[in-house]
Amino acid sequence: MKLPPDSILNVPRVGKALAKDFENLGVRTLSDMLSLLPRAYEDRRFERRVKASSEDNPYVYCRIFIERKSYFPTKAGRTLKVSCRDDDMTELNLLCFNRDFLDRQLRIGDCWYISASVQKSYGSYNASAFELKRTKEEAGIGSMLPIYPLSGSLTQKMMRSAARFAIYSLTPIEDCLPQEMHERLGLMHRDAAFRAIHMPKDPKQTSRARTSLAFTELFLLELQLVREKGASGNGKPGKLCRLEQKLLESLPFSLTDDQMKVIGEIDRDLDSHRPMNRLLQGDVGSGKTLVAWLSSLHVIENHGQVAFMAPTELLARQHAEKAAELLAPLGIRICFLTGEVMGKKRKLLTDGLRDGEIDLAIGTHALFSSDVEFRNLSYVIIDEQHRFGVEQMNTLTGKGKRPNVLAMTATPIPRTLALTVFADQDISTIRTMPNGRIPIKTHLVRESRREEMFAAIEVEFKRGRQAYFVYPRITDEGESDLRDVNTMYEELRKRYPNYRSRMIHSKLADEEKMEILTSFRLHELDYLVSTSVVEVGIDIPNATVIVIEHAERFGLAALHQLRGRVGRSDLPSHCFLVFGSSLTEEGKERLKILNETNDGFLIAEKDLEIRGPGDIVGSRQSGFISLKYASLTEDYELINQAKAEAERIVREDRGLIKGENACLRQVVMKEGKL
Ligand code: ADP
Ligand code: MG
Repeated sequence: MKLPPDSILNVPRVGKALAKDFENLGVRTLSDMLSLLPRAYEDRRFERRVKASSEDNPYVYCRIFIERKSYFPTKAGRTLKVSCRDDDMTELNLLCFNRDFLDRQLRIGDCWYISASVQKSYGSYNASAFELKRTKEEAGIGSMLPIYPLSGSLTQKMMRSAARFAIYSLTPIEDCLPQEMHERLGLMHRDAAFRAIHMPKDPKQTSRARTSLAFTELFLLELQLVREKGASGNGKPGKLCRLEQKLLESLPFSLTDDQMKVIGEIDRDLDSHRPMNRLLQGDVGSGKTLVAWLSSLHVIENHGQVAFMAPTELLARQHAEKAAELLAPLGIRICFLTGEVMGKKRKLLTDGLRDGEIDLAIGTHALFSSDVEFRNLSYVIIDEQHRFGVEQMNTLTGKGKRPNVLAMTATPIPRTLALTVFADQDISTIRTMPNGRIPIKTHLVRESRREEMFAAIEVEFKRGRQAYFVYPRITDEGESDLRDVNTMYEELRKRYPNYRSRMIHSKLADEEKMEILTSFRLHELDYLVSTSVVEVGIDIPNATVIVIEHAERFGLAALHQLRGRVGRSDLPSHCFLVFGSSLTEEGKERLKILNETNDGFLIAEKDLEIRGPGDIVGSRQSGFISLKYASLTEDYELINQAKAEAERIVREDRGLIKGENACLRQVVMKEGKL
């Protein structure tokens, strides 16, 4: 049987068994082998003699002369000990466990090249893990050795020869980047890069090679994304349907330009035959939910059903109330469904959904339990998407025939990561806040100045405003200096005897939380003492003060979300961030950022700077793309650069028809993207 020329089986000495081992490493072809990066390198460029070994770096590569041989008693009988000296005349004992055959091979006076891991004990140097070669070259001395991931019976030697074989068989390796870019950005040619990676000579070259490959990979990805984005941007915005017009007319305000733009983008997707997969990002209070309602009407007018899913029962209920207020007058049939709804009532709702008697279902992920069927589910909206796990998200896609999906988030993705991490999602952004909003004033409050703060808040109470007090703990857990909800509830009651309050936290039943929030909304309460349960989405416009104590204990994104509980009307609002004396530099940095800006997008960028992209990318699992050379968490700069270059190319030569872009055009065409 003739092998395909690219098969890994072409490598000498690789048979079926080893091919399986290669496959475990993701290597089926010679090209796969080429793109398998070594996990490390062993730098044997310079000889390291015995004395250079240390606990941190026990490795030794040098020439030795055999001096003496003896046996010493061990449990298994006896073990060969070969004493030798290097060119410094330092003595090294080779302990040859189960390697008696070395007695015949190693003759006194002979010269060998050794690589060994050396331990010093009681003043003498010993090695039991060592390899001996006849020549310097065989021992790898004078070169760098790639260390590959291994599987099964693969050895480093096998891997190295497979890589070398791949390079020789695949040469010349095509490079698709224009020459001009190579020169300007100092990138290595692809061919040279693979040589530097698999047959390394110098660590600087190797690292430049990796960067060059990573850049090309990111650049091609960005090129594709930039081109697609441009292409879809050319369509006309969808026209508002009758129901959407009606809802707009019923509102006491008009939409912001960004809201209009985003509705246009969504409606256009909903009208197209391709199922939508869109992320709607906008800061807290930017009016995303309204966009969701309007676009729902677009679907409902065309006899589709809509499912609106929120991360908590609390939020779901709040949305259901709002929907009842806004949409029910338009004749929309709404239902509210969570895990709590059971028995007859549940049956009624699920029947309604199955028979198409219900247009809009609002609820938690219970909307997608196995007993829920939809007649014609064509639009799924996910509020606060980042709160959902991957599994919960996956259950969605099964219902309905490939419904349109709109995921909303108030934790914006930093600009630079957005395009790359969410390769399969389109993104809509609401950047501006509704008119008339007064920016929230943020105050950083030292422990020693809490009293003044409490006095200032009393003034707000007198004006008829409401407040949130937020603590990191529910009860005192013995961390002496940490305030908690219970203790502070008592303390605040004493301080503000004329004002009404309740505690709210995750230990309460959902019913009770709802009841408390409802009475807060009705202004039967003046303030809530809370944990970060109030973080997500709660919308009570008359609340204008939020106090967050031990602010340094919360993440930047969480603080911004919490702060977003106020400033939800045309009243001036205040956010007090109380910090302790143990504030770290990083903590200080974070609080300063919040003090300086209300812009969630800017905050996300800063968060990225402080935490690095790892955390942010890591905590989001949606739409990941796999990269061979580049790392989303470490190549942040490179991503920026690749994106800028891709945008430049598309600007100058969208169709890639210029001569210097011919190679690029070929690659893009091969992937079916042109
Ligand atoms: P988000 O979900 O983005 O945090 P919401 O949709 O909850 O924001 O909107 C916050 C508040 O702003 C709601 O009370 C909503 O009715 C109101 N709102 C939405 N759009 C506008 C607008 N264009 N002008 C004024 N108020 C608006
Ligand atoms: Mg919201």
